[in-house]
Amino acid sequence: MTTAAALRAESARLIREKGGTSQGLVPTMGALHEGHAELARTAVEQNDVVVASIFVNPLQFGEAVDLARYPRTLDADLALLDAVGVDLVFAPDVDEVYPGGEPRVRISAGPMAEKWEGLPSRALRRRPDRGGQAAALRDARRGRRPELPAYRAYFGQKDAQQLALVQRMVADLNFPVEIVPVPIVRSADGLALSSRNRFLSAGEREAALVLSRALRLIEERAKAHQPLDLESVEALVRSQPLVELDYLDVVDPRTLEPLAENCRDTPFRGEGLALIAATVGKVRLIDNVPLDS
Ligand code: AMP
Repeated sequence: MTTAAALRAESARLIREKGGTSQGLVPTMGALHEGHAELARTAVEQNDVVVASIFVNPLQFGEAVDLARYPRTLDADLALLDAVGVDLVFAPDVDEVYPGGEPRVRISAGPMAEKWEGLPSRALRRRPDRGGQAAALRDARRGRRPELPAYRAYFGQKDAQQLALVQRMVADLNFPVEIVPVPIVRSADGLALSSRNRFLSAGEREAALVLSRALRLIEERAKAHQPLDLESVEALVRSQPLVELDYLDVVDPRTLEPLAENCRDTPFRGEGLALIAATVGKVRLIDNVPLDS
């Protein structure tokens, strides 16, 4: 479907046809891989009708070149979603989502969007408007029918900040939708799958493994109630010349504020989320691991 009206009509028809009571949404930017497939499979298991959206949202990109070079593989994406059992794909163009090209009404995502991926210096380079994701979710929901009892939307833990933000937005704005987190899918060597990995050379891909290695080290220390000693982990990442570290920190999973104690010199207790972002060659990569001692 390329229009919200067609999506609305078709999803209503399918719900009627199946006598269904639940609808799942899997929002993506396309260039799908096994991580997206896992989101879609989970949604298909849990819902009568499943919609995936494919929309490369210009609001999520800082630079026109980055937007222009984002991979687009629609035919392969449709084949993957079909094989997994997704019922409908919503693939609108920009004008369908933002008539006239720009949203007139914007949702401010607040302080949770102002750090990490949302910091102005990073946002200028890449994602100027973390609210873009909030807007995308709201737009995708335009296709819903109010009498349907259960809506679920599926988000990967890969984008931990996005997930925390969307969960908080749905709670704060009282949206009748359940947000379902899906664990990160990795390749056998530990690299988190990403649509951007295809731009890594063989050497860069090898170098990028230091991200997941660093997170594993932090995870092991947390499990063993040891001090996390982030300085030594940071040194490990910086020893890899092809990797330019952007940030590495341990935060509260709900507020995304750095954990003041608990992570440097004292034994780790409780819950946390280790976040890492780095540029490898020209590719910006993010990864994270939940910590639970
Ligand atoms: P994207 O197409 O990159 O915007 O991602 C769409 C959805 O897929 C987001 O909820 C991501 O968190 C999720 N996702 C991307 N990569 C992975 C992965 N390796 N494992 C799990 N979910 C992922």
